This record gives sequence, C-alpha cells and structure tokens, in this order.
Amino acid sequence: MTVILSARGVRRDFGSREGLVRAVDGVDLDVMAGETVAVMGPSGCGKSTLLHLLGGLDRPSGGQITLHGRRIDDLGEKALARLRRTGVGFVFQSFHLMEELTAVENVEMPALLAGRSPRAARRRAVELLDRVALADRAGALPSQLSGGQRQRVAVARALSNEPAVILADEPTGNLDSAATLDVLKLFDSLHDSGQTLVIVTHDARIAATADRLVSMRDGVLIDETRLTGGTGGRLGSLVGLED
Ligand code: ADP
Ligand code: MG
Repeated sequence: MTVILSARGVRRDFGSREGLVRAVDGVDLDVMAGETVAVMGPSGCGKSTLLHLLGGLDRPSGGQITLHGRRIDDLGEKALARLRRTGVGFVFQSFHLMEELTAVENVEMPALLAGRSPRAARRRAVELLDRVALADRAGALPSQLSGGQRQRVAVARALSNEPAVILADEPTGNLDSAATLDVLKLFDSLHDSGQTLVIVTHDARIAATADRLVSMRDGVLIDETRLTGGTGGRLGSLVGLED
C-alpha cells in the first residue's frame, strides 16, 4: 500500500496570554492511498489544527509532513499556495463558498486559479456538479441553496483539481440529518471511487464509513480502530439503505 500523506512527530504551539498552547503534540499518522480516515475527539483537542497542518494551511512548530513522499512542512508561501490549490482539497463545516458566485463558478474557481482554460474549467465544474447531483442548480447562488446542497457544492469544488487527498473538517456539523445523509453518501461514493479522505467528525455514522478511526485527546492521537472487513461499518448496512 502506498502512503499518500504522512505526519511524523508533528507539533503546533500557539502563544497565548496564558502561555503556550500545544494544540498538536507529537502526531504520527500515515494515510494510505484510497483510505478514509475519520478523526474524532472532544472540542479543542486539536483536530482542526492537525487538519490545517496536513493540508498546508498552517505550518508545524516541529515534526515533518510529507505528501507523496515530499516534505510540505517547510515549503515557502508560493509552493504552499500551489499545494493548497492542487495537492489537497478542503471541505469546511461552514462551506466557505463565495456568496456572490454561482454554484458552477464556485466549483470552477480552483481550476481557473490553477491555470486551466475557462472552457476546460467550466466543463470540469459541470461534470463535478453532476457528480454531486446538483447539475440542475449550476446557476444558483449559495443563498439559494440548502445547507446540504451548499456542502455538496463545496465538495465538488474540493475535487476540482483532482487532489491527492480531501481534508474535511466536521463537514456535516451545520447540517440537519437529511442533509447529513446526502453528504455521507457522497463521501461514501468518493471513497468507493478511490479518493483518499481524512474527515474530522463528531458523527458516528460518518466515522462508521471510514476504514480507520483515529481518536484525538489533548493534541495526541490515542488509539486507532480499523473498521473495514465483515459487514460492519458500511453506510448501506448502517442506515438500512441498499443502493
Ligand atoms: P478542535 O478542532 O479539536 O476543536 P482546535 O484545533 O481548533 O481544536 O484547537 C486546539 C487548541 O488550539 C485549542 O486550545 C485552541 O484554543 C487552540 N488554538 C487553535 N487555533 C489557535 C490559534 N490560531 N491561536 C491560538 N490558539 C489556537
Ligand atoms: Mg475544529
């Protein structure tokens, strides 16, 4: 199996009035190609900080992070920006869509920023919207979409440049249970198509669709549960749906 994303001894300290906060405290993690890893843990334990480090949104105070075997923790600003555009895809709890752009314009933006032609970027964006079952909403503004639809647009956007890994931070945290199920199914289909995913979640249903569950406490990964095998864990059996 190929390791896509790897962390070794990764640490992140924040200075605060009370002193130093060690948000991430020596994390080792290997994410394999095609694997879905769920990260769970109480609020404030360092999940978002870790995800930001893994995707180059932030730099560690210590340790090493590699993507495809190449160090990303010591990249300069330009290389980091390129990494964020093309190497990884982020999905946030609050969607982070551009409100003044339509769904298809949001989805094509990363491809345009990566230098694709407008025509190619648009073609790809339309395909991706189709993939998240929103082809008919391409011209809608985010304000005209439901929460679940917005998050599906955000997932389509994250897929724009075919990133090695999608990093999702509580992607269903703002959604009702029907919308959660839609997003859950979408992640499950990405998983089935071989996309590598790291998902921070409080939702046991999402965690149950993962290959591996990692728990975090006080900046440390404390245990790992491998969930594949048998009938346990797959979404279909969990929610009583057979697609
Ligand atoms: P989680 O996502 O698990 O809720 P976070 O990664 O957001 O946790 O935060 C972990 C710890 O790091 C918390 O104590 C938080 O207050 C602190 N922290 C996170 N980001 C910053 C920052 N930019 N500046 C200072 N402290 C921060
Ligand atoms: Mg968080």
